[in-house]
Order: sequence, then structure tokens, then C-alpha cells
Amino acid sequence: MGFDVQLILLALAPVFVGCIAWEMVWWHRRGDDTVYRWRDTLCNTGLALLHQGADKLAWLFVIPIYAWVYNHWRIHSFDSSWTSLVALFLVQDFLYYWFHRMSHRVRWLWAAHSVHHSSEHMNLSTAFRQSLMYPIAGMWLFWLPMAWLGFQPALIVAIVLLNLAFQFFVHTQAIPKLGPLERLLNTPSIHRVHHARNAKYIDRNYAGVLVIWDRLFGSYVEEDPTEPCDYGTVKRVVSFNPLTVTFSEWRGMFSETFHAKTWNDRIKLLFAPPEIAESVATARREELTVSNAQ
Ligand SMILES: [Zn+2]
Ligand SMILES: [Zn+2]
Repeated sequence: MGFDVQLILLALAPVFVGCIAWEMVWWHRRGDDTVYRWRDTLCNTGLALLHQGADKLAWLFVIPIYAWVYNHWRIHSFDSSWTSLVALFLVQDFLYYWFHRMSHRVRWLWAAHSVHHSSEHMNLSTAFRQSLMYPIAGMWLFWLPMAWLGFQPALIVAIVLLNLAFQFFVHTQAIPKLGPLERLLNTPSIHRVHHARNAKYIDRNYAGVLVIWDRLFGSYVEEDPTEPCDYGTVKRVVSFNPLTVTFSEWRGMFSETFHAKTWNDRIKLLFAPPEIAESVATARREELTVSNAQ
């Protein structure tokens, strides 16, 4: 491929920045200066740059692994016909759904993904909030079956990045529900719900591009005009320093695992759903407080 597919997001950066500028002006003209906060937007931008750097580095290691599986183990060979490209898109969007769902339900993956959710603001720049730790968390493993199915590594990288690029546009409060599109695609309304911590909304709407996976696998919930989204994570991260934000959940996870009493607790602290890990950690903290007081 003449064009380095890894640069897709960088090539689209002017579009992203232009849209953010438009949205900032749009809210300002409506007299609402609470949607964008400079410190939050700068933190998001810092996180985007760190993520881009880490991603570029990670592809150096990951692409050869995809190539090895593709060359030695593939069960089929997809060409570059339209039907193959449609299959590429559908398979990756399906795998994205499961990657995203597990990122909310397995603490090890949540440690990376929580960065994307820890802002209490919701605007286009929130899409920039990514974690440089995704390669360590193992996000790339979710795309590995695509190499085995017979998609070329460069196409895998391209579709992963295009899916992410699409998702930039759903991070906004400026766009209302989109009628019949809500049935098919991930939209701003659907993704607002995903970023909300209201009991009714939390851990719902994992879609990348197509919302059909949420509808099929029972994780879809519609935005309710009588229940406004409360954005952010249950466990608040009070920092605008991109590195503090990046490592906050990892530090908590390792420290709690280190101080755990049993191996069963350690497994839960690392791999259980975040709220279960949290209850294990809280119980242990209370135990330690009592024994310190004695
Ligand atoms: Zn998420
Ligand atoms: Zn998001």
C-alpha cells in the first residue's frame, strides 16, 4: 500500500480539529460555556498525542504477529473485492463490540478504557481521550482472529482506525436523535448514553459503527429525554494531567492486588467486573483500617 495506513487518524486530524472548533463556537453562541473547559480539552489533546505515539510503536510489534498468523494459519484468503471489504467491516465492528463490552466488564481492560470515560464533560474532544496502555492491556489480541480468517494485516489496521475515526463524530451533545439511523448506526444520542453513569445507562451501548450488535446481544438502551446523562466514571478521577489520568486505574489495581489477602481476591481485583473488584478492595481497606487501629 502506498499510503501508510497507520497515519489515517493523523491525516484526519485537521477534520477533527475543525469540527471541535465549530462545536466550541456553537456552544459559545448558545451561551453555554460549560460543555468545553480548557483544562479538560487540553488534557484530552495530551491523551490523544500519547495514544498516537504508543499506537505507532505498538503496530511495529503487532503487525508482524498478524502477518505471521495470516501467512501460516489463515483459513481463507479475502481479496480486495467489495464483498471482502464489507466482510472486513462487519467482522471488525463485531469484534469491536466485544472488545468494548469486555473493556467495561473486565477490570484489566477497564484500567485502559476508563481513561476514555473519566471526563465529566462530553464533547467532540472527548473522543481524543484514549489510553496509551491499550497495547499492554491487549486490545490488539481482539483483531488477531481477523488475520486467521484471512484479512491482510494492513487492511486490519486500516479498518480498526477507520472505526475509531467514525466514533469521533458521536461524541457530541450538539446533535439530537437521528430518526431511523438510530436503528442501524451508533449515533451521538446512543453514545451519550454510553458515557453516562446513571444507573439506567451504565454499561450499555457498546457499538462502534453498527448498533445492531447492542440490539442483538441485549445491551441497547435508548436516551430518555426525562433522564439527562450524568457523564463520567463512578470512581471519579480528579486530574487534568494526562499521565495521572492514564495510570490512575492501573495504580489502584496493582496496589489493591498487592495488598490482597487471597489469590481468589487477586484474580477478582484483576479480572472481575470493576464494581466487584471495587467491593473486594473496599472490604480489604476496611479490614486494614480496623487492624491498624488495634
Ligand atoms: Zn466505553
Ligand atoms: Zn466514547
